[in-house]
Amino acid sequence: MRAIISTFLLFTLLVSIAGQKTAPPEIKQLQGPQNPRLAFVIHGGAGVITRGSMSAEKEKAYKAKLEEVLLAGYKALQSGKSSLDAVEIAIRMMEDSPLFNAGKGAVFTADGKNELDSSIMNGKTLAAGAVAGLHHVKNPITLARAVMEKSPHVMMVGDGAEKFAKEQNLELVDEKYFWTQERWDALQKILQQEKEKTAIPQPKGTSENFAELPYNKFGTVGAIALDKDGNLAAGTSTGGMTNKKYGRVGDAPIIGAGTYANNDSCAVSGTGWGEFFIRLGVARDICSLMEYRAMPIQNAADMVIHKKLQNLGGDGGIIGLDKFGNIAISFNSEGMYRAYINGEGKPVVEIYKD
Ligand code: ASP
Repeated sequence: MRAIISTFLLFTLLVSIAGQKTAPPEIKQLQGPQNPRLAFVIHGGAGVITRGSMSAEKEKAYKAKLEEVLLAGYKALQSGKSSLDAVEIAIRMMEDSPLFNAGKGAVFTADGKNELDSSIMNGKTLAAGAVAGLHHVKNPITLARAVMEKSPHVMMVGDGAEKFAKEQNLELVDEKYFWTQERWDALQKILQQEKEKTAIPQPKGTSENFAELPYNKFGTVGAIALDKDGNLAAGTSTGGMTNKKYGRVGDAPIIGAGTYANNDSCAVSGTGWGEFFIRLGVARDICSLMEYRAMPIQNAADMVIHKKLQNLGGDGGIIGLDKFGNIAISFNSEGMYRAYINGEGKPVVEIYKD
């Protein structure tokens, strides 16, 4: 009898331990169908961003710019503009600032050029526009939107995309416009390290060591929004990664990798080591977990960033929004420039992990 009781107790204990392990994490849903809200979130890139590596002045400059951009996008939503408008307004502002690796502040390729990528997606219609390999377009996000709204295509690259920009009367600039000392110095530093043959062990699936260097991957920008009509939108814009090979295209202009929006699930914009985001289809994967497994957005984002991306050896992060205005922020890098409007309608700007 005693043996039966102990076996029973042991069995109960094992079941309860197994249960604890598979129990879903705490779900904190603030918004629902009864109380959807306008929502707006931006990021300015993820990477090795630590308190120690940032001067007080620089931190102040980033925070001020992020807040200015956040408020401009949110104001657009409050005045009745669409989520697509808010996303474009915010991303253009970050593209015009040298602080971010997009537009003006784009990083340099291995042969000392700037090659810009961007995309945007409409969560209501699933229409999308993407551009890559640009050298003269001042605001790639606006060209991505033009591809979406004024062409029968989703993606245009290089000279053809720039020809289309001209036809659409978008602003083109001389390549010199994108030259900044800081980005140039970053390229020189990497080239020097390459010369010295600094061997860096690589995670599986990669053959280059360019992405291992801390200062060559942050600053991509993105925005996601939910407007008064309940429509989601997402956009991302980048110069890519310092020392990328000429012609390399990252995740930012790949719909489903760096950018995705669908009113039925979520809006996501990512930043980080693009090759991994493409291989995992990060943005679409997060939305799929919500769609097929009914996961709350933060849990879906954490599963993809902290499990899948982490296990594959990649790094970076995402901002996400569901159709009720719940926000998810998830990154496995040291930091991520990010800002959002909280539940009380107040701006929150953050940079570091904690
Ligand atoms: N994801 C971008 C790329 O790989 C880089 C970044 O987010 O900083 O092109």
